[in-house]
Amino acid sequence: MDYIVFDLEWNQSPYGKRTEVKEIPFEIIEIGAVKLNEKKEVVSSFNRLIKPQIYNEIHSITKEIIHIEISDLLKEESFENVIKDFFAWCGDDYRFATWGNMDLIELQRNLDYYAMDGYIDNPIVFYDVQKLFAMCYYEDRVSRTLEFAVDVVKLDKTEEFHRAYVDAKYTAEIFKMLDHDIVDNYYSIDCFHNPKTKEEEIHLYYETYYKFISREFESKEAIMESKDINGIICHTCNQRIAKKIRWFTTNSKTYYSLGYCKKHGYIKNKIRIKKATNNNVYAVKVVKAVNEEDAGLLMKRYTEAKLRKKEKRLKVI
Ligand SMILES: [Zn+2]
Repeated sequence: MDYIVFDLEWNQSPYGKRTEVKEIPFEIIEIGAVKLNEKKEVVSSFNRLIKPQIYNEIHSITKEIIHIEISDLLKEESFENVIKDFFAWCGDDYRFATWGNMDLIELQRNLDYYAMDGYIDNPIVFYDVQKLFAMCYYEDRVSRTLEFAVDVVKLDKTEEFHRAYVDAKYTAEIFKMLDHDIVDNYYSIDCFHNPKTKEEEIHLYYETYYKFISREFESKEAIMESKDINGIICHTCNQRIAKKIRWFTTNSKTYYSLGYCKKHGYIKNKIRIKKATNNNVYAVKVVKAVNEEDAGLLMKRYTEAKLRKKEKRLKVI
């Protein structure tokens, strides 16, 4: 299996939201990529500009960052042609790696706009090099810039950032240096095309936690009432466990609960409500063992949330 490390540059409406095309706020104007083989050696590269078809002027911010003139872009081929070449170049056996999760989302939004099916139609596994860099070097999940990471790993900064091919090359260099065990264990899932049916639902068993991505529902209430999703479980035993705290929310986007497994102790269950592109919603559930201290903190948050709810009710009366 190859790794395709890619980066995009995009343009946006030069006159702001007023003239923005809602389905495609960011129009891709450049794609750069590096192909690594199984040993993470560079075997090939891809570097193309793209002729814009939506926004025919470059936004001032874009111009400042990437130094591309519209006249240069107009000589190039369309998104449809460049992307066809790109996927042909990718081959049949690869996984994407990108700095952060935005490039993969915008690539799919652009594919969708041009109704280009057959390239990415399902949730896909990818490597979020930004996340993996944070895990390997700082044991956290903080988002840092590519330039920050380049400085940390002491790569030569001979080429300017914010051109797709240069950023892809830097990302690939960092990707190669990461701890292979962490990379292999902590891949990401892109859900631009989220699961639609129960059969397509995704169950991921990571070393320290379990992640579940549900089918679509019409509302978050429907998710939280669904028996196969609202169960408080231990991921190691793969069964329901005694409830310590029932589901509660502090912002109505994220729900928490706490269970207790006789074998594995306190288990935190968390559900994040995500919006699908068609206004439906789906759940991302994460189940993880926590120590007594973290369990205590969660109980405190639960009590506070309950109190706030009560106060709100009193105000209404
Ligand atoms: Zn258990």
